[in-house]
Amino acid sequence: MSSFLPYGRQLIEDDDIAAVAEVLRGDWLTTGPSVTRFEEALAARVGAPHAVSCSSATAGLHLACMAAGIGPGDTAVVPAVTFVATANAVRYVGGEVMFADVDPDTGLMRPDDLTRALARAGGAVKAVLPVHMAGQCEDMTAISRITREAGAVLIEDACHALGATAGNAPIGACAQSDMSVFSFHPVKTLAMGEGGAVTTRDPVLAERLARFRSHGLVRDLARMENLGLASAADGSANPWYYEMPEPGFNYRASDIQCALGLSQLGKLDRFVEARRRLADHYEAQLAPLAPMVRPLRRTGFSNPAWHLQVVLIDFQGIGMDRAALMRALHAQGIGSQVHYLPVARQPYYERLYGKPELPGADAYYARCLSLPLFAGMTEAHVERVVATLQKEIEN
Ligand SMILES: *Cc1c(COP(=O)(O)O)cnc(C)c1O
Repeated sequence: MSSFLPYGRQLIEDDDIAAVAEVLRGDWLTTGPSVTRFEEALAARVGAPHAVSCSSATAGLHLACMAAGIGPGDTAVVPAVTFVATANAVRYVGGEVMFADVDPDTGLMRPDDLTRALARAGGAVKAVLPVHMAGQCEDMTAISRITREAGAVLIEDACHALGATAGNAPIGACAQSDMSVFSFHPVKTLAMGEGGAVTTRDPVLAERLARFRSHGLVRDLARMENLGLASAADGSANPWYYEMPEPGFNYRASDIQCALGLSQLGKLDRFVEARRRLADHYEAQLAPLAPMVRPLRRTGFSNPAWHLQVVLIDFQGIGMDRAALMRALHAQGIGSQVHYLPVARQPYYERLYGKPELPGADAYYARCLSLPLFAGMTEAHVERVVATLQKEIEN
């Protein structure tokens, strides 16, 4: 009997453990040299001038919404199929969420979905937050054109897509957006325990992200409002002094987390390659199960970095409901999960906005199931998952 396969998990190796242990023996546990090194390495890897690390992608989304200046009275467009955090970040800053529908076969917000959401929002929309669902990228050229025409800020929720490219640009380069947000939660492509980062090309946004990450404090004399308190009579900066123009949060990632992140980042190519290989193997193995079971439709505009192995299942056709299938798989050592119940269908959002029509999102949700996919898996594991699924479906 082989071991249990969760839908996702981290791959931690001896050198990752050594990198963390080295920090524990050093002088810094929180903001220290590993934080800077991780941020520089991440920025270089995705091709963005600035990367601001933070305690989670949820914190990163909140920081991005603050940096973008979203506030009460503003509306932001969020695809209906995503993790709750994408929409919640807009609520944290007092903004309203307009949910966009998605393609039922990919879970991605299509350019037309965005156009319709903008029209439904009526007036001005302050921001658009596309989500690169499962590691496959949104049509960024079209999404960015429509967003620019609407005069809105474009914030990519890139939590699934570290290592992917859209067009020729790595996700995170912000080639067509203002900011990209990443997660380093253990089920994501790289693990930091908890951790996140926001990348941007804009130095003004980078300064705001870094400031809101640490209580909103300013230590640069050139930015001080109260020069009489900030400096001595000779004009030199008072060494103890800091100012807070607006409150922020403590959303810092620790040196311990960043040391793990830095060590993991060196393995990104290998991890993404493994995920692509496994996803291709799933695609081939699943072919005989069509049309009852299909992987997500692959789009033409990105080289994905598969974070999830989502399959779309015709549960009526197989005569078995999703819960029963999940339980049967679990009993045979196979984890699965649903990504995601459309966020618009959460009680909180239904109380706020009623029941918007989202036929694509509902059709996607009715069929989706995420099968195990992580860098430590083998082709034999994929074959075991598909054989078990086939047996359950044919029963
Ligand atoms: C995981 C995830 C988040 C939140 O990430 P955390 O680091 O756990 O806060 C946000 N959006 C999406 C799409 C995610 O998958």
